[in-house]
Amino acid sequence: MRRERIVDVLVVGAGPAGLATAAGLAASGVGEVEVVDRERQAGGVPRHCLHGGFGRLGMTGPQYAERCVAAAVGRGAVLRTGVSVTAWAAPLTVDTTSPRGLERITARAVVLATGARERPRAARLVPGTRPAGVFTTGELQQAVHLHGQRVGSRAVVVGAEPVSFAALDTLRRAGVTVAALVTEHPRHQAARARALDARLRH
Ligand SMILES: Cc1cc2nc3c(=O)[nH]c(=O)nc-3n(C[C@H](O)[C@H](O)[C@H](O)COP(=O)(O)OP(=O)(O)OC[C@H]3O[C@@H](n4cnc5c(N)ncnc54)[C@H](O)[C@@H]3O)c2cc1C
Repeated sequence: MRRERIVDVLVVGAGPAGLATAAGLAASGVGEVEVVDRERQAGGVPRHCLHGGFGRLGMTGPQYAERCVAAAVGRGAVLRTGVSVTAWAAPLTVDTTSPRGLERITARAVVLATGARERPRAARLVPGTRPAGVFTTGELQQAVHLHGQRVGSRAVVVGAEPVSFAALDTLRRAGVTVAALVTEHPRHQAARARALDARLRH
């Protein structure tokens, strides 16, 4: 049994892009704007980025995510979480699944704002299997900040750019000893103050 519904605009993905789109469209009076996201909480990737550096004010990721959600909801967009879009049923119709069941939603416009994922090992053409304990930064942050999982006791961070330093902070917060940050470049690529802070504190 698939429930069928019609909305004016459907935005798929409640990350910063989807929420900003929804806020703008809802404010411009295009009618009912609905945003769906497969996660239980809206906000996208910034939800698990506890470091600062988001938006012009350099907010933390969760602060920024909250602000994006408030902007969309404040302008009248309807937010539905725990809803995954699984397929196109027609050019302006998508199928969804959620704990509340299956739906088919038709809209006058569908906006895909499903984000860009970090490139996985296979796409980087790194051969072999991926052993347990090898994470992308996004996976690491989700495991530690969203799910409170234990990720190990000693780590090496591959890379020395700003997100590598964020990974370092996440590992430290999870009680992991960081043996090294390694890079093929002659020096790190983060701001001087950021690297100095990491050296002094860690
Ligand atoms: C580790 C890391 C650190 C970062 N640090 C910074 C930083 O310090 N400063 C900064 O400005 N940027 C940073 N970024 C980049 C920033 O997070 C992204 O630019 C931003 O999140 C992109 O927003 P988005 O809305 O396009 O995508 P996302 O934030 O990825 O949102 C996409 C949403 O779509 C949902 N979705 C996907 N597929 C479906 C589907 N089929 N059905 C329903 N929902 C779906 C997802 O659940 C997600 O909530 C960082 C990114 C990473 C990975």
